[in-house]
Amino acid sequence: MVPDRLAENLAEVRGRIDMAAARSARTADAVRLVAITKYASSGIAAKLVECGCLDLGESRPQELWRKADALGSAPIRWHLVGHLQRNKIDRTLPVVSCIHSVDSWRLLQAMDSRASALGLQHVPSLLEINISGERAKQGLAPDEAPRIIAQAAAMTHVRIQGLMGMAGLYSDRDQVRREFRSLRELRDRLRPECSPRVSMDELSMGMSADFELAVEEGATMVRVGSALFEGVVA
Ligand SMILES: *Cc1c(COP(=O)(O)O)cnc(C)c1O
Repeated sequence: MVPDRLAENLAEVRGRIDMAAARSARTADAVRLVAITKYASSGIAAKLVECGCLDLGESRPQELWRKADALGSAPIRWHLVGHLQRNKIDRTLPVVSCIHSVDSWRLLQAMDSRASALGLQHVPSLLEINISGERAKQGLAPDEAPRIIAQAAAMTHVRIQGLMGMAGLYSDRDQVRREFRSLRELRDRLRPECSPRVSMDELSMGMSADFELAVEEGATMVRVGSALFEGVVA
């Protein structure tokens, strides 16, 4: 029973992404669905993989390690979408395919030097930007991004590939749209300043409540959790 419902939810979310992409005159393959599995067990995450969803994300490093271990042999691309503490870098970098949540220059520097020590050539990462201005939100202030991108030109292992943002908890839909649009506009302004080692191709924005707005505003990755697990996880 449960896997059927999971497959239905996945198909529904994919369908809504496709329609939103069409409204923004893009094709559905321009948007990658990252399934955030923090509400689900490893067993349910494994069912998602069986349904063909190979991009999985977690917000806590320890939980990501645990599920990555449990699902070991599957060809999953793991995404870390929450804060990475520096003492967790070594165990996280070898497992992940993208870190969405780089929120300080210190973290970025530490990641680059640890990636070098671990022999990892290429660590795809996104700068997390606080687009809602809410104080509780992680992320860099938008006006800090240019300096970090300029400094990142000297990094040898971490590759910044774009930006990540989260809409404010209390924002109404127009405000959510404005916040997503501000992230896209920031990305567009930063693009000409990027060195060859830094790109601004990716925009990670949109969660269960607002992923369609995010796609309409140009998201290339949406991070969807609870909408996938309705009726599956209590
Ligand atoms: C939990 C989480 C998500 C998914 O949230 P839902 O509202 O359940 O879709 C997306 N991004 C981040 C950073 C998260 O922590």
